Amino acid sequence: MKVSLGFILAASLAGLQFLAIITVVSTSYVTTEKVILEHARELLTEAGSNASEHSNSFLTPARETAELTSRLIENGIVSETDYDGLEKLLFQSLQTESQLSGLYFGDEAGNFVYVMRSEKHGGFRTKFVLTEAGRKTTELIWRDESFAVLKREVDPTDIFDPRTRPWYKNAKSTRATNWTDPYIFFSSQQPGISVSSPVVSDAGLKGVIGVDIEISTISNFLSELEISANGTALILNQNGDVIAHPDLAQIIVNKGGRLEFIGIENIEDPIAQGAFSALAATGLVEIKQEMRSEFNFAGESYVSLIMPITGADLPWTIATYAPENDFTQSIKDNRKRNIWLAAIISFITAIAGVLIAEFILRPVRAFAVRTALVSQGEMSASEPLPRTYKELMNANEALINEISQRRKADAQILKLNRDLSHFSRLNLMGQMATGLAHELSQPLTAISQNVDAAISTAKQRKGGNEELLSILEELDEQAHRGGDIIRALRGFVRKDRGRKVLFDFNELLEQTQRLLDHEAEVHEVELIVDVMKMPFISGNRTQIAQVLINLVRNACEAVSNANSPVRKVVITANHKDGELLVSVEDTGPGIDPDVTLFQQFETTKKDGMGLGLSICRTIVEANGGRLWYDAGHKTGTRFCLTLNSKPTPNEKQMSPKTDKALK
Ligand code: ADP
Repeated sequence: MKVSLGFILAASLAGLQFLAIITVVSTSYVTTEKVILEHARELLTEAGSNASEHSNSFLTPARETAELTSRLIENGIVSETDYDGLEKLLFQSLQTESQLSGLYFGDEAGNFVYVMRSEKHGGFRTKFVLTEAGRKTTELIWRDESFAVLKREVDPTDIFDPRTRPWYKNAKSTRATNWTDPYIFFSSQQPGISVSSPVVSDAGLKGVIGVDIEISTISNFLSELEISANGTALILNQNGDVIAHPDLAQIIVNKGGRLEFIGIENIEDPIAQGAFSALAATGLVEIKQEMRSEFNFAGESYVSLIMPITGADLPWTIATYAPENDFTQSIKDNRKRNIWLAAIISFITAIAGVLIAEFILRPVRAFAVRTALVSQGEMSASEPLPRTYKELMNANEALINEISQRRKADAQILKLNRDLSHFSRLNLMGQMATGLAHELSQPLTAISQNVDAAISTAKQRKGGNEELLSILEELDEQAHRGGDIIRALRGFVRKDRGRKVLFDFNELLEQTQRLLDHEAEVHEVELIVDVMKMPFISGNRTQIAQVLINLVRNACEAVSNANSPVRKVVITANHKDGELLVSVEDTGPGIDPDVTLFQQFETTKKDGMGLGLSICRTIVEANGGRLWYDAGHKTGTRFCLTLNSKPTPNEKQMSPKTDKALK
């Protein structure tokens, strides 16, 4: 199927821009996908680091307060038995550090001073549990921020003993600052943690300072942390308990009247449970370094990150997760918009491409129609072109030239054809006349001799018949006249009627080929002219054309009659030392051994005259060359002839231009 130029042009334009757009869109699609995911992870890491830093800034002051207060007592700034002084010291520290919920001191005798924040009666409450003379008394005092007493109360039921508490035991046994596990503070019902520091003297342990902090502040901080629209951060204790979560209610359960933290495997946040419960499967949540992952939940993709809390000596892990779409949705929407935009641009530009192609092609199509009309002869090639391109103008000029060449060449071939048939007839007549003259001259000579003999016999006889003598003399005269006519005829035939000129041999060959192309086609023979550019030839152009035509015609007939599988006639020519060697070679059966070549009237064809080869030889020799049959050639038949390429002094010198002009 032939495809039109317009279609190719439009399809190429549309295809190219489609390819360009697809390449840009798909490349940006793949690269943004990666960038978005990386961006999501960075945000999560940032959220985790924030939570970690926040926890540190929250925990460190508690530890420092515990240790500082302990040092103050150890150094005697406040005596460990001055319970009022201790209360003041603890009160001041609590006022300074807003995230602390309570400070307390317990000693080896079981005495206990505890200052805590209170929601009623001024904001602060002190609890004294003191043993005097073996009797334990518990007094509660509510104060406002200026340390003024607002209420006092004695609680005889409270038998609290600090020495039994884990914070006290830890500090005592390790003689170092210690953190407790997170637990729910009884008084505030908030999740909290305590840090305790021993008060030591040379005599041994004097007591322990403890500080309470509510870690709900971290939960509040986490809920305020904007990871993403649906992202969550939570903190896990080493034992798998969720100790901080944006929704505090989720992580505290009431177990038989006791408030407890809930483990990650039981949390009502199914995504967090799915993402992180495997961490607690071994019983110990221990993360040494930041770990990122992706997971699917309910058909949605999530990104998650777990990291240890750095800086504080607490075995806590920060876990964050967020749906990938939180980070990518807007970009994905934008990407979708871009794809649509690209598709629309593709479509518009494709249509524009088709219109441009149509615009470009209109003159080309008009030119094609015009060319068809010119070639059919319905329009003159010289008629002015409608609006068109430079290239088409050039093509039009070339077309006009081609047509007027071709016409000239056709005219030349016609003339050559006419000349050839004229010469052919003349040559045939001449050749036959020569034969007849040769055949008739002998009987005429015999008649003349016999008449001469009869006249002399009649003259010698007496009383000869005068009338007979005059008849014989008349007969002799006519016989001589007949001889003269034949001699004149021979002279006329021998006379060279052709003019020799210099002519372009290649051009003659080309015309000969065109003249014989049709004949070769009828015989189903391939006519090949394998000739380089030759010098000009000296000779009679028409006669030499006749020789070539005769030889090629014989060759075509031979190939045709032989039914050869290879059906070729090849003309070659070489030039050497002012002489041109031309050969006509065929793939026919070769020469019939019964035929004597170049002999008049020798033919194997039923309608042949047997004069062609002898005429050809006469012509070639008359033009200063030779014609022979190459008997050494193995396959088919090969005739060779030489032609003179040197001009002789008497020949008319013709340039190729004047040569053409005279044809
Ligand atoms: P004609 O073609 O009228 O027979 P020619 O003188 O041209 O007269 O040829 C004489 C004979 O020479 C042909 O009849 C043919 O037998 C033989 N002949 C000429 N050319 C070839 C050829 N190319 N191959 C075979 N035989 C040829």
